[in-house]
Amino acid sequence: MPFASSRFIQLVFICYLLVIHTIPLFAQTPQYFKDKYQFPISTPVYLTGNMGEIRPNHFHAGLDVLGDSRTPVYATYDGYIGRIKASTYGYGNVIYITHPTTNHITVYAHLSRFSSTIGQYVRKKQYEATSFEVDLYPQPQEVPIKKGQLLGYVGNTGASFGAHLHYEIRNGNEAALNPLLFFENLVQDRLAPIIQNIGIVPLSPEARLSGKYQEQRYQARKQGNNHYTIPTIQAYGAIGFELRTYDIANQASNTYATTKALIKVDGKTLFQYDINNYPMDEAYAMNAHINYPFYKKTRLSYQKLYSTDGNYLDIYQHKNQGKLRVKAGQLYDILIEAHDVHGNVSTVAFKVKGVAPPKAQFVPDYSPS
Ligand SMILES: [Zn+2]
Repeated sequence: MPFASSRFIQLVFICYLLVIHTIPLFAQTPQYFKDKYQFPISTPVYLTGNMGEIRPNHFHAGLDVLGDSRTPVYATYDGYIGRIKASTYGYGNVIYITHPTTNHITVYAHLSRFSSTIGQYVRKKQYEATSFEVDLYPQPQEVPIKKGQLLGYVGNTGASFGAHLHYEIRNGNEAALNPLLFFENLVQDRLAPIIQNIGIVPLSPEARLSGKYQEQRYQARKQGNNHYTIPTIQAYGAIGFELRTYDIANQASNTYATTKALIKVDGKTLFQYDINNYPMDEAYAMNAHINYPFYKKTRLSYQKLYSTDGNYLDIYQHKNQGKLRVKAGQLYDILIEAHDVHGNVSTVAFKVKGVAPPKAQFVPDYSPS
């Protein structure tokens, strides 16, 4: 039947289109439309926090931008309000805008108040609910938004310490994307990350560091611009490396997260983490990303350049989970790189020397009778 077969071809074609258009949404490298989006706050912009900062039990999923109750907040792009919440908890007064044409959601949190049109909509719903606390999911046609439209003003509502805008860009799969990747010259940053410490840990029962089964921590010693070193490490067996770092920017007294780091052994990349793009529901797996027992003791965050079993974070590329198997008599060239989102890089170079552990001496501590 010609009708049925043309329907069938049509169906196949639609499926084909769906597949072709859906694949990019799941691709690892997201699209960053430079110049298409408007930053929600007019320049000059001062960031008090960036993407990937280690907060209690999670990574910070966006940017914190300084402002006060007179600082207007504008919509990044055309779309509609998909969610709006008035609350004294969490994100406080917050707007979520869905951008159907770019498949992103932008989030504007801790607002002191909404714009008059948006405020009218919220107040109506508050009266209906006879409650200040409302969490609304408007239909796409209810509150349409244009790029650059006033949304409200910066504030300190919800769990916020000081007035700021918390701003996020998420994709259709609820992955947080680093907003700085969308706005090229938003902040001046020609300064590379600072490297504080390197940690080295045994990762197999036979592993030894300086002849003992123990963690070692070193202060990174500066060796010229953006280059650091630590003393040669004597090791044996499977070991892993950890990095304590932060980022800085020009004309900013705040410190920021270093969003990408990697380790190379003899010129080959062994492990990399990249916190510029990760699924929102994984943000709480952050405790597996840092050396948590050490953090509990000291409040110092060493980020692992290896992955331990049960770490399901999707921010890594690695060989052999980032474990280096050190053989006796071999010398390894180690290079650790810390990257910020603006392309500034710091490095730590040092050597690992394979040393066989001393023969174990068996000392019986009991006599079987
Ligand atoms: Zn924030």
